[in-house]
Amino acid sequence: MRILLTGTGAADGIPGYFQTDRVSELARAHGGKDVRYRSGAVVDGVLKIDWGPDTFACAQRLGLRPRDWTHVLFTHSHDDHYAPREFQYLFPPFLPMETERPLIYGNAAVVDGFAGQFEEASLLERFLIRSFEPVEVAGYRVTPIHAYHKLDEDSLNLILEKDGKRFLYGTDTGVYQDDTWEFLEGVALDGIVLDCTDGFQATEYWGHLSCEELLRVVDRLAKIGCVGSETFVGTTHHGALGGATHEELERFFEPHGIHVGYDGMLIEL
Ligand SMILES: [Zn+2]
Ligand SMILES: [Zn+2]
Repeated sequence: MRILLTGTGAADGIPGYFQTDRVSELARAHGGKDVRYRSGAVVDGVLKIDWGPDTFACAQRLGLRPRDWTHVLFTHSHDDHYAPREFQYLFPPFLPMETERPLIYGNAAVVDGFAGQFEEASLLERFLIRSFEPVEVAGYRVTPIHAYHKLDEDSLNLILEKDGKRFLYGTDTGVYQDDTWEFLEGVALDGIVLDCTDGFQATEYWGHLSCEELLRVVDRLAKIGCVGSETFVGTTHHGALGGATHEELERFFEPHGIHVGYDGMLIEL
């Protein structure tokens, strides 16, 4: 399984849209891995995870062809992950009516949210997925798990399985709640990427992880048999307000064997 992180930024990206903090200004001045587009991923070139407002820019930057993405999985309906109006360009006058279009999977807010976004939106094939109920998507076994995030909908993190490999895409979430911990017990993972929005600045908001919280989550995942010495552990969904540059994050996580995600990072399991 090859997971390409197309974007690794939090809601307002880095440099933060309207931010003038140290991390944002450093990213503006020096570019490189400190520039983070809104988060998303592509698995094996066919499965798109989340489709936020930077999807177009990510595709150009990384030389990707969105028509190759035959299936789209959404984690939740926050704007940085969910830009349903972008799908209008799959319809006339941009493409013929008979064009094959991606199949879309998400919670009720995602699936129902397409209605009325543009004239043909209801023609897109959408499938409701629910936490803890596995489904087959494009030859992958996909098991959504309950994220601790946007509480007025079934916010999802996603376990993908294929060819004996198992990967967990773990954003957006705070520290999982009991239902998710119970479900994960003994589920051995080959790879995981986790929310790291808050960086060095833990906040009152419980729906994301700081670096310290991420370490605690990984530790607990190790204790219940999800993460072992061979498991790839990475980060994503970094916010400028976390107050950490890429290099500072690497210094923090290196002793723990955790890889700091960046736009364009390819994870091969
Ligand atoms: Zn987000
Ligand atoms: Zn969110």
